[in-house]
Amino acid sequence: MADAPFLPFALPEISEEEIAAVVETLRSGWITTGPKTKELERRFAEATGAAHAVMVNSCTAALHLALEALGVKAGDEVIVPTLTFAASAEVVRYLGATPVLVDVRRSDHNVDPAAVERALGPRTRAVIPVHFAGVPADMDELAALVAPRGIPLVADSAHCFPGQYRGRNVGTLAAVTCFSFYATKTLTTAEGGAAVTADPALADRMRIMSLHGISRDAWKRYSAEGSWYYEIVAPGFKYNMTDVAAALGLGQLARAERMWARRRAIAEAYDAAFRGEEALDLLARPADRGHAHHLYVLKLAGRAAAGRDRVIQRLKERGIGTSVHFIPLHLHPYYRETYGYRPEQLPVALDLYQRSLSLPIYSRMTDGDVDRVIEGVRSALARGPL
Ligand SMILES: *Cc1c(COP(=O)(O)O)cnc(C)c1O
Repeated sequence: MADAPFLPFALPEISEEEIAAVVETLRSGWITTGPKTKELERRFAEATGAAHAVMVNSCTAALHLALEALGVKAGDEVIVPTLTFAASAEVVRYLGATPVLVDVRRSDHNVDPAAVERALGPRTRAVIPVHFAGVPADMDELAALVAPRGIPLVADSAHCFPGQYRGRNVGTLAAVTCFSFYATKTLTTAEGGAAVTADPALADRMRIMSLHGISRDAWKRYSAEGSWYYEIVAPGFKYNMTDVAAALGLGQLARAERMWARRRAIAEAYDAAFRGEEALDLLARPADRGHAHHLYVLKLAGRAAAGRDRVIQRLKERGIGTSVHFIPLHLHPYYRETYGYRPEQLPVALDLYQRSLSLPIYSRMTDGDVDRVIEGVRSALARGPL
């Protein structure tokens, strides 16, 4: 066991065909935003059930563009669950607005609709549910809270592709849904992201702002007078996806279902192994939603509850990488010092953070790797007090 090579927490699965497609694009003479990106936009919109997809260079960029297109500005408030990655809330600050951090639900770690309801106020301009680990948040309950007030939902779906909710595709549940194609995510372009929407005006604004605020309409309108002409309609950003990345994304998208099936099989093996374990709680899987199986989170329970760090250490000693999702935002110095949050103010997220660890779950894992993780967890729990 000690001699086995280190099993990383996450690894991308890149096929030889994808490598060939990237090389072909490099040789084609068109390496930045172009035909590959356009094709990926069409296919990704279809795959998520959305009318429009805007490909960008990260999910962070997609979230920023979504809030900008929805008119979020200085003085506004945007509600964000605290149990998330830095990106979900920093984009609110990019626009000078205030992130209002709220607690999550113990069962599946998704944002608690009751907490969102309590946080709604006259300055609330958007709510950002995060589809934690790959399970969609309570989108109908959230929509029922915000729709009467005309407040849009912007979904952080960095974990959730592919995903379904009550028979609906994950790209149809919010005004804008943002995906990540970061190296560790369920579909990767090394770095990349997408914003999908049913609203052509939002898609248009996000597309324009993703490339310097240059109006595409101007290109069309003046094309007869020469392609050198463009108009800047707003001070935009530089968030466009390259065709090199899109070539990789097209291959990944074509294999997304197969990679998902492998992750699901790993999740089922973990479930079967850990379900009866007294020292472990598993995340709930609401029956009305699909699971992208991006993360597999274990929660230490009962007498083992305080032993999370030691379990991580013992797994590391056996060459098994793990992670923690997430250190709640309200515990970080920036949010504590800027907004005065105290740890116990959002008690559920604090408790879940202290007891959770995430196990490796990715399509390149062999059955032997999965068994090794299961054995590793069992032995970590059995090896003396935690
Ligand atoms: C990975 C991640 C992001 C950021 O994605 P990038 O593509 O790296 O910008 C945002 N939100 C969550 C919840 C994430 O896990």
